[in-house]
Amino acid sequence: MRYYSTRGKGEGVSFAAAALTGLAPDGGLFVPEEIKRYAPAVLTSLGTMGFHDIAVESIRPFVEDDIPPTVLEDLVHGAFPFEAPLVAVGDRLVLELFHGPTAAFKDFGARFMARAFAYLRRGEDRPLHILVATSGDTGGAVADGFFGLEGIAVTVLYPKGRVSPLQEKQIAGLGGNVSALAVEGSFDDCQRLVKAAFSDEGLRKRLVLSSANSINVARLIPQTVYYAAAAGKVLGGHFDADGEATPRIAHAIAHAIAHAAANAVRGIGSISMKGPLTLCVPSGNFGNLTAGLYALKMGAPIRGFIAATNINKTVPDYLSSGIYEARSSLATISNAMDVGAPSNFERMTAHWPLEELRRMIKGIFISDDDTRRTMAAVYSGSGYFLDPHGAVAWAAADKLIAAGDLPGGPLAGPLAVLATAHPAKFAEVVEPVAGPPPMLPSLKKVQERKASARTIPAELSALIDALSITAQ
Ligand SMILES: *Cc1c(COP(=O)(O)O)cnc(C)c1O
Repeated sequence: MRYYSTRGKGEGVSFAAAALTGLAPDGGLFVPEEIKRYAPAVLTSLGTMGFHDIAVESIRPFVEDDIPPTVLEDLVHGAFPFEAPLVAVGDRLVLELFHGPTAAFKDFGARFMARAFAYLRRGEDRPLHILVATSGDTGGAVADGFFGLEGIAVTVLYPKGRVSPLQEKQIAGLGGNVSALAVEGSFDDCQRLVKAAFSDEGLRKRLVLSSANSINVARLIPQTVYYAAAAGKVLGGHFDADGEATPRIAHAIAHAIAHAAANAVRGIGSISMKGPLTLCVPSGNFGNLTAGLYALKMGAPIRGFIAATNINKTVPDYLSSGIYEARSSLATISNAMDVGAPSNFERMTAHWPLEELRRMIKGIFISDDDTRRTMAAVYSGSGYFLDPHGAVAWAAADKLIAAGDLPGGPLAGPLAVLATAHPAKFAEVVEPVAGPPPMLPSLKKVQERKASARTIPAELSALIDALSITAQ
């Protein structure tokens, strides 16, 4: 499989080159030349295959020139010692993507990418420098994914004062091969600095640079796996029991099991439990949604997507007006989605024209007030804690269901909301509206860490200085 820049065809590069360089030399993003369909035998057994087997089948076509199947199996086992349970909550399904070590969906991409990098760089003696800009969760997942890997140094840039205290400890509390830079500016500034560093020839000569943002295709590809797994389950009429970290209060659990068992038989309200799945994706940089589109094109039984954003609604506006207008990002309570210029937009439009995107995706934005109301309502109705990002998605589904405006027409099939972070990660937002969410032992450990970051102004020269110190 060759990878091409979104900004021009050129020669194309291997998966290894696309992954390790991150951004194409012309400033574009790498896209695979083709999105291959699953073999028919895989499609018919998605509902019964294990998560690791689905992962191998999903990732293999994208990487097979560089990663042999047996190595891929090892990578997948190492990367995903956790799964993505699909649980029933009230009248819909929730795809829980927060069972990894940093309690957010970015663990899927980051952990696979880190292991792929370590494999692809085997035998090299110059260290690799990973630069990553984060609005909160990426930094933690990437820091954790790469922590302790030999021959790789990671520098995380985050907007000073705009990530939660816990996120800051996940990013800046590890030390070792992970350095943290608190940038005086917004996430967009961080992202701009990373892009500028990549285009700086002097720096590129001195350091072997790579990115770990959702622009990196090695992060995107593993995110197809949970879409395929969830859609497979639903096509067969299944969903999962609560996982260990499912944030549901005890007395609600018995009720949920009884309710869910009944639903499996009679369907949930107007939503029948079987059939192609509609997925509601809380979106910021649109890496997650782009991976979902890949899974759909690979043949996973998906009906379409709801792209749910907060007030940073660049993409929903584009879908309705046809005009793309990047903006500066606005701060919200779903801060991992505070992105005014979503980087994966370029990838989506390189693959698909507007009309096709409109057939696959409905876009909508949700206010902070509606997000808070939704966290409170879902908790009081089902004893289930949504984090603010999952709540944006839930609220988006509410609105589009009420309007009868879903991908493929008025809803006639099952719907799953992606819960991209555990509520305990955003306890300071969740607690005032829904009460204290259950704590996660892994997050408790993080709270004991001490964050230590260097503050820099949002200027390339400051970034270059900081990198030079790290590289010594
Ligand atoms: C990163 C993140 C998002 C947004 O995902 P994108 O791939 O950037 O669209 C949503 N929710 C949480 C919790 C996140 O960390």
